[in-house]
Amino acid sequence: MKLDLSEIVSEVGKRLTYEFKEPPLEDLGDDIACVGDVCGKITFSNAAAALILRGKAKATVELTCSRCLSPYRETFDIDISEEIPLAEHAPDGAERDFEELPEDEKEPLFADNVFDLTEFLRQAVLVSVPMQTICSPDCKGLCSGCGCNLNETTCKCQKDFSQNPFAELKSLLQDNDGE
Ligand SMILES: [Zn+2]
Ligand SMILES: [Zn+2]
Repeated sequence: MKLDLSEIVSEVGKRLTYEFKEPPLEDLGDDIACVGDVCGKITFSNAAAALILRGKAKATVELTCSRCLSPYRETFDIDISEEIPLAEHAPDGAERDFEELPEDEKEPLFADNVFDLTEFLRQAVLVSVPMQTICSPDCKGLCSGCGCNLNETTCKCQKDFSQNPFAELKSLLQDNDGE
């Protein structure tokens, strides 16, 4: 969704809140898929030198666990807290120079008083995704022997672990014959 903010930009002190429900975001990358709508609320305030953005958004994405390689879902609660510099704030809506936007923003989020909410949310979700994706803190990962998913199955390799000296000690302590 693109929001026309001309009204807010033209009046210092003006504030407007939008509630939004964006369809699933696209282009998040190979291992990230947005599942479901992205809902939230965003408030724009004109503070003369900058446009202040405050709000919240909720997005559910499907990620791939880096340990067990299974897909899993995670919901991010995104806090929106941004400032977009306004080069000038003439109330007559004079031409503005938006080339002061940070260079790392490939897509201009704000141009000609139009704010690209979809692109903004896309970037916010990408920032939220952790460097290391893990489906659960106690994910057992894949077996280094046979490659099976140890969360789902116990393989033969696991039994071999019982042949190490520590397992022997364990069986002595437990005073039983194991099998
Ligand atoms: Zn996992
Ligand atoms: Zn195995």
